[in-house]
Order: sequence, then structure tokens, then C-alpha cells
Amino acid sequence: MNRAKVNQNINLDDYNDIWIIGEQVDGKIHPVTLELIGEGKKLASKIDKRVVLVIVGFEIDKEVEQLLNYEVDEIYYIEDVSLKEFSTDGYSKAISDLILDKKPEIVLVGATSFGRDIGPRIAAKIGTGLVADCTKLDIDEEDGKILQTRPAFGGNLMATIICPNNRPQMATVRPGVMEKSNFSKEIIGKITKINPKLAASDFRTKLIDRYDPVQKKVNLRDAKIVVSGGRGLKDADGFKLIQRLADVLGGEVGSSRASVDLGWIESDHQVGQTGSTVKPDLYIACGISGAIQHQAGMVDSKYIIAINKDPNAPIFEVCDYGIVGDLFEVIPELIESIEEKQI
Ligand SMILES: Cc1cc2nc3c(=O)[nH]c(=O)nc-3n(C[C@H](O)[C@H](O)[C@H](O)COP(=O)(O)OP(=O)(O)OC[C@H]3O[C@@H](n4cnc5c(N)ncnc54)[C@H](O)[C@@H]3O)c2cc1C
Repeated sequence: MNRAKVNQNINLDDYNDIWIIGEQVDGKIHPVTLELIGEGKKLASKIDKRVVLVIVGFEIDKEVEQLLNYEVDEIYYIEDVSLKEFSTDGYSKAISDLILDKKPEIVLVGATSFGRDIGPRIAAKIGTGLVADCTKLDIDEEDGKILQTRPAFGGNLMATIICPNNRPQMATVRPGVMEKSNFSKEIIGKITKINPKLAASDFRTKLIDRYDPVQKKVNLRDAKIVVSGGRGLKDADGFKLIQRLADVLGGEVGSSRASVDLGWIESDHQVGQTGSTVKPDLYIACGISGAIQHQAGMVDSKYIIAINKDPNAPIFEVCDYGIVGDLFEVIPELIESIEEKQI
């Protein structure tokens, strides 16, 4: 591998391993952790590196042990009573210290609230760059540089960014985009416990109370069928029609950002660059023009059906089946014929 000493303080050859910063609350592992392991393994196979998972918490040994079933080479389990609950200061210091000690080549964090909080803090503490909200990662096999792709300029173009002079190369990665690592009965890795050096003065905040949010009603990421509505619905009542179609198909209701901005539906339902990324078997876009920012969240669906009265709407460029027509006529007919078949 052709690698130079590019920074007087850094010798790139000192850096090894691909690290995944895992995410857990009360031992419950966030799905993005498995997605990052899957992606880390893909990158590792191209440059012959180890995949190491970092998990921070307290008394979650059983849950950490189960993560060995996802074919990681090693797990660094940073355990301390002060890290039982998430703390921006505590978590970022403990992880930064470990990075400075072990020198990973690549560090991946989920672009979740957790990762968006600690990712940039860790990057600043250890003096490297961070590419936020990546939707695609690859490796330049010549020099091992990670090619980090993310939407730029409001999603109108995709930028591929490299980090040539500093290590580790850090990225936050959008949840729901990468393939999860498969469960394997065979265990190849081991767990190494890390006792972080943390003092009370390292924590600037104190947890006083915790309110768990009400469970979200919509689960777009795991849905097999998503029926989405856009500005073409004309008003909030239009979503009743979308809900009926979703119900007869056993699917979830999605939306464009325009519908959310107009206050017709809650933001949990938004699909797209600033909403959820979905990959259902069937995505039905109703009265949605198909702006690039909407496509960013649904274009990988297995089958896409679009209903739009404008034959030139961009959504027709990405759909498998397009129906040019008024959704208020097309959807009731669709519901009727599906119901007839179900009897
Ligand atoms: C930084 C940034 C991030 C963004 N993130 C997102 C995002 O995450 N998700 C997202 O969706 N957008 C996002 N947007 C907004 C995006 O650019 C579009 O403005 C939005 O997707 C448009 O929503 P829409 O298709 O519902 O509305 P419109 O573009 O207004 O389209 C409405 C469509 O309905 C059709 N229509 C009207 N009446 C009928 C009818 N009776 N029957 C059938 N069809 C009909 C029209 O022909 C039209 O094509 C983002 C924009 C920016 C700048």
C-alpha cells in the first residue's frame, strides 16, 4: 500500500482496524450498530483490516457478548458506573482516549441523535475530520482512503469526501441505509474490557430525571409496504385515503416533506433526505412529485408505484409502475379491487 507520512505528527502506518461505535440504551442495541458492522466488514474485506466494535455502558455484559455473533474481530467494552446512562462528556472522553491509545484507521458512528452528538466531539478531541451523514462508503484500495459520500447542496448533488492527512478517518452514517451484518453461530472475536479513566470533573452535566418518549406509532424502516402522500392530497383529510390504502395492504403511511411542512401529518412519517430512509418491498407514492430529496429516502425500494396527474413528474423516472391520473379517482378504485381480491 502506497502510504506517505503526510503530517509531521502522524504516520499513517501506525493506524489499523475499522472501528464501529455501537449504540445502546439499557442494553438494547440500536439497529444502526448492526448496519455499521455489516458495512465495516465490507470495507475491511477490501483492505484486510480487523473490524472492532466499541460499546460503552455498565453491567450489560450479556448484551455485549451477544454482539460477538455478528462476526466482529474484537469488542472493546468500555465499562464504568459513571457511563450507565448516556453522557455526552463521559462517552466522548472515554472513546476519544481509547482511540488515541489504540489508533484505529477508520471510525464509523451512526448518524443518530447519539452519533450526531458524540461524533463531532470525538473528532474535535482527537484532531481529525468527520464526514457527517454519509449514505455510501467505499475504499480506495490503492491507498486505503475511505470514500465518504453524502448529499450536498440540499441533496442536489452527491459529494464524495476523503480525509487524506489525518487519522482516524471518521464518518457518521445514516441509519437504515447499510445492510445489517448477519447473525452467525460461529464466534471469531473476543471481548476486551476497558476501564476508562474518568473523573467527576470530566462531566459537566448531571442526569436528574429521564422521560422515555411515547413509543412511535409508525415504523417505516421495517415496513414491507409503505403508502406515501404528498402535496397532491390537497389537505390533511387526503391522508385518510392514504391510510385506507395502507390498511388494506397492511402497510405503513409515509409522506413527503411538503405534507409535513403543511402540518397535514407528523414528521415521523416523512420519507427522504431529512426523514426516514425506507426499503420496503412496495412503495406507493401518491401525489408526490419525486424531488431528489424525496427519492433519497425511497429509491432503493424493491417496487415503486407512482400515482400522479402530471405525466412529467420526476417520480415517473424512478418508478416501476406509473399511473397518470387523479389520485382521488385512482386510489378508491385500487382499494376496491384489492378488497374484492381479499374476500
Ligand atoms: C435540504 C432539503 C431537504 C429536504 N428533505 C426532504 C425529505 O426528506 N423528504 C421530502 O419529501 N422532501 C424533502 N425536501 C423537499 C423537496 O425538495 C420537495 O419540496 C418535496 O419533496 C415536495 O413534496 P411533494 O412532492 O409532496 O410536493 P410537490 O412537489 O408540490 O408535488 C405534488 C405533486 O402532486 C401531484 N398532484 C397534485 N394533485 C394531484 C392529484 N389530484 N392526483 C395525483 N397527483 C396530484 C402534482 O402533479 C405534483 O407532482 C427537502 C428539501 C431540501 C432543500
